[in-house]
Amino acid sequence: MIEETKTAPISAEIKGKYELVIGLEVHAQLLTNSKMYTSDSTTFGNLPNTNISVITLGHPGTLPKVNKRAVEYAIRMGLACDCEVTRRNIFSRKNYFYPDLPKGYQITQDKGPICVGGQIPIILGDGTKKNVKLNRIHMEEDAGKSMHLVGETDTLVDFNRAGVPLIEIVSEPDMRSSEEAYMFLMEIKKLVRYLEICDGNMEEGSLRCDANISIMPKGAKEFGKKVEVKNMNSFRNVARAIEHEFERQIVMVESGEEIISETRTFDATSGLTSSMRTKEDLNDYRYFPEPDLSPVVVSEEWLENIQNELPPLPRELFQKFVDKYGLPPYDAGVLTDSKEIALYFESLCQSTKNYKAASNWMMGPVKSYLNELTLHIDDFPIKPEGIAALIKMVDEGKVSFSVASQRVYPEMLKADGRDPSEIAQALNLIQDSDEGSIKPIIEQVLAENPGKVNEYKAGKKGLLGMFMGQVMKRSKGKADPKLANKILIELLEK
Ligand code: ADP
Ligand code: MG
Repeated sequence: MIEETKTAPISAEIKGKYELVIGLEVHAQLLTNSKMYTSDSTTFGNLPNTNISVITLGHPGTLPKVNKRAVEYAIRMGLACDCEVTRRNIFSRKNYFYPDLPKGYQITQDKGPICVGGQIPIILGDGTKKNVKLNRIHMEEDAGKSMHLVGETDTLVDFNRAGVPLIEIVSEPDMRSSEEAYMFLMEIKKLVRYLEICDGNMEEGSLRCDANISIMPKGAKEFGKKVEVKNMNSFRNVARAIEHEFERQIVMVESGEEIISETRTFDATSGLTSSMRTKEDLNDYRYFPEPDLSPVVVSEEWLENIQNELPPLPRELFQKFVDKYGLPPYDAGVLTDSKEIALYFESLCQSTKNYKAASNWMMGPVKSYLNELTLHIDDFPIKPEGIAALIKMVDEGKVSFSVASQRVYPEMLKADGRDPSEIAQALNLIQDSDEGSIKPIIEQVLAENPGKVNEYKAGKKGLLGMFMGQVMKRSKGKADPKLANKILIELLEK
């Protein structure tokens, strides 16, 4: 039964009386080659029902086997989130009947998830830091896909996705605004990409999120009844669904109605949620321990190996960029958004000590080139040493930043490995930083404009630009502008 609920805008005053409480359940599809309990391929986009064996289909007499890599990926995520890793893992059957579930049950973890507790730190737009606590991370398998094609009266089903490994990350009801939920999801996306366990793409369904939302009077101790919202296929839509649900629930409470625990679906076109099912018709999943799988024991040695192979985490790099390189938090945030960019920057900082300039080059010319050609940093033609050489040329006053970025850098992009000072020389761009040759040019310009000099001395400081223009013109654009400016002021103020 789908019936939409529209709400009129409510006043900020009424909104201010309530507190929003959010807990998220995030599914991440793991980047393994084979499925969670069989060796069937996980390749996306194959012809329907070709990545399936009798095990995926759960035929009688077949036996599942746990994918070790998938367990490892779940542990990676747990370690990155400061969870406690469960040493003896049992699996459970969750029974329900649905056309996309060939076995009639899903093998998941009910009691005793692989990762317990933990937290994900987030930073909000105004700089506020917050640790969002996790309840658990458990392993499970994906379902197949039902398809309703236009003009078809029958439902078609593709089991290729059935059995693909998933982790489910369950937060505590710890978030208090749609922004916090959004940042939490962004952090998860960043983490799974750094850890290389999931591609983090929500639009394509590799990350999926259910949002549990409730309201309570500000300052109350007890949470309200929660509503679970499904079917949001972007980070933005999760935030929209939460905002809508907040208002809808306030309107209900304000008009004396009771919130019912139910599952609602989000419609991206209208921005509204509508009821799918209530707790009364809640499934009884009849969980019981999976009899066909023996427990997976995580040994000390295995855990240590996974820990040792963990890549640097985004928050560690962020802190290092701020503390060691003295970068503003904004820069550190942009540079650690993707691991590859962060590692390129790290490597750049091995060749230059001007870290802020290095950051400016990354966020400016390097990023715009990558964006323009939709290239990945791995395909960027200039090695970190090349960018470091450019920074050095600017620092030594051989070329200005604008000449470096607009004339030399494009040449380097065309021919990998070319030395920037060679390019600058060949294009006759090396600027003159020799006081001995710049000073006579300036003196000449001043001598030719005695009237303007007097006007300047009488207070018309804006004439400085005119003098600079003349000096640059006369030096054919090669005078080091900083130096020229300094000498010019000295001579004028004499
Ligand atoms: P259920 O028993 O309905 O599955 P859980 O206690 O397992 O509920 O919680 C499922 C998710 O809902 C978790 O992410 C949790 O943080 C969140 N949650 C629980 N209670 C609330 C609440 N009152 N408001 C918002 N979210 C909640
Ligand atoms: Mg639960």
